[in-house]
Amino acid sequence: MNKVIIATHNKDKHTEIELLLSKLDLKIINLKSYPEIGDIPETGSTLKENALIKARTVFSLTGIPSIADDTGLEVDALNGAPGVYTARFAGEGCSYRDNINKIIYEMRGIHPSNRGAIFRTVVAYKDSSLELIAEGLVKGYITQEIKGLDGFGYDPVFYVNEKSKTFAEMRVEEKNIISHRGRAINALKDKLIPILKNNSEGLPSE
Ligand code: IMP
Repeated sequence: MNKVIIATHNKDKHTEIELLLSKLDLKIINLKSYPEIGDIPETGSTLKENALIKARTVFSLTGIPSIADDTGLEVDALNGAPGVYTARFAGEGCSYRDNINKIIYEMRGIHPSNRGAIFRTVVAYKDSSLELIAEGLVKGYITQEIKGLDGFGYDPVFYVNEKSKTFAEMRVEEKNIISHRGRAINALKDKLIPILKNNSEGLPSE
């Protein structure tokens, strides 16, 4: 069976991506099998650069076709911030809760009609012969207080217009259908499936 490794230590992202790939005939490996691979520095200046850095690094260390994502939250009222700095918005080593508190604080007093935001994911796929890139986004707005208990990261403050609830009020299956990551992975699948079918060298078999 073809193998692919999901190049993230974030178990929430891993769960979402694994579910999104589950219908493909793939053996999905995670980084737990490679404890020597630590956090990969995100030194790029764009989501695409960071996704490629992670996919290339994990492929070069494991030899297994790798999929990595990089995600950014772009808030209109903050001129597109935090963007590529979304993980470290409240500072290096901050928690999800620190980031939520900071965004609520930074946006205090901003009228509901001016709280628009986009969640954007770029995914990169890397194997011995090719690199693929795909992108997905979802529009919403930043709530004034947290809502919902599921999900991770900014999910409790990201209200999705087309669902009329926050990501944290959705089960992972529901989130995956409309989320930035779900859309990016589905766009990647559209590119990968023909390769899986036609190019036996595209992904190595066990
Ligand atoms: P990165 O792709 O690991 O750089 O992710 C950046 C940050 O965005 C993460 O640390 C989370 O705080 C946040 N994030 C990524 N994906 C999601 C999501 O699906 N929902 C909410 N927050 C997310």
